Amino acid sequence: MVNFRSPELAKQVAGHLKGIAPKFPVKFCHVCGTHEWTVTHFGLRSVLPEMVEVVAGPGCPVCVLPAAEIDEAVKLALEGVTVATFGDVLRVPGSSLSLAEARSRGGDVRIVYGIHDAVKMAIEEPEREFVFFSIGFETTAPLTASEILKGPPDNLSFLISHRLIPPAMELLLGIGDLHIDGFIAPGHVSTIIGLKSYEIFPSAYNMPVVVAGFEPLDILFAIDMLLQQINNGVAKLENEYNRVVKPEGNEKALRHIQQVFNVVDGRWRGLGRLPLSAFALKSKFEKWDSRKKHKIKVGVGRDILPGCQCHLIMIGKINPIDCPLYMSICTPESPKGPCMVSIEGSCRIWSKHGIDTHKT
Ligand code: SF4
Repeated sequence: MVNFRSPELAKQVAGHLKGIAPKFPVKFCHVCGTHEWTVTHFGLRSVLPEMVEVVAGPGCPVCVLPAAEIDEAVKLALEGVTVATFGDVLRVPGSSLSLAEARSRGGDVRIVYGIHDAVKMAIEEPEREFVFFSIGFETTAPLTASEILKGPPDNLSFLISHRLIPPAMELLLGIGDLHIDGFIAPGHVSTIIGLKSYEIFPSAYNMPVVVAGFEPLDILFAIDMLLQQINNGVAKLENEYNRVVKPEGNEKALRHIQQVFNVVDGRWRGLGRLPLSAFALKSKFEKWDSRKKHKIKVGVGRDILPGCQCHLIMIGKINPIDCPLYMSICTPESPKGPCMVSIEGSCRIWSKHGIDTHKT
């Protein structure tokens, strides 16, 4: 059994990477806040060969929430509906207010650790109207789907704001000056969706993809596998995290998703509307669809505040330290953009690790 936290093994792999690194620059992109945390926390960028760069794509589920969907939740809270959601969401800026600010103005906004808490609250307080603000990638969508299949209480509905990772990866390939040479695909999303959704990248885009776990050595192994593909002149889909991720994914979770959701176009904060990148409740579940039930209307929303560079951070175009507001007027205590709010946001991760240089 490999010890994925072994410093000795990490040194060996880092040495191997230096031996196989190309003489030209290569850029690998991960699409996962947890991967960014591992890369930053363990200082992996500092052990990579000079020609190898790892950048973070749109892998923070809170950061990609468009302001208009925060605005919907804020309006619900201010109109007397109890909004239950994850703690990370509360400080994400809406167009004018965050949910935390709506709460300070009297809105009933409650932090939950999972959808079960929202169901429990709705059962215990039948006189109140509840909305669960359901956010996240393919990882959290099955929990919401399975709860809806069970038939939640009538005083609970769902503001669905889930997003899908493969369409975001495809978006990055269409941005000509990003020059991505390979993807490190997220282990937890892949646990649900399996490998099939990534096949398009090597087959249609000649783009190497390696699904990776979350230990430092998982990431170093994945980079090693990507470099070997580049050196061999092939683009393949490989699974470094095969101790957890199965090619077929989690069939039960996928079945629940397919039963409850349609795949629709979705807006991503700062990135615009991506085709077939979001979930929406199927019409047979519309009694639990908060958009149908409460008929809240909001505008298109203001995604990026003046000066904030989150739209460039989220596509890996720049690093947090390239934003002029980073740790000057934008700090974890006083965030100006979602990338500094969420524990999965790159700005927050870099700031918490005191990063002020590119080689971390
Ligand atoms: S440092 Fe703050 S203002 Fe700059 S991109 Fe990050 S979140 Fe936005």
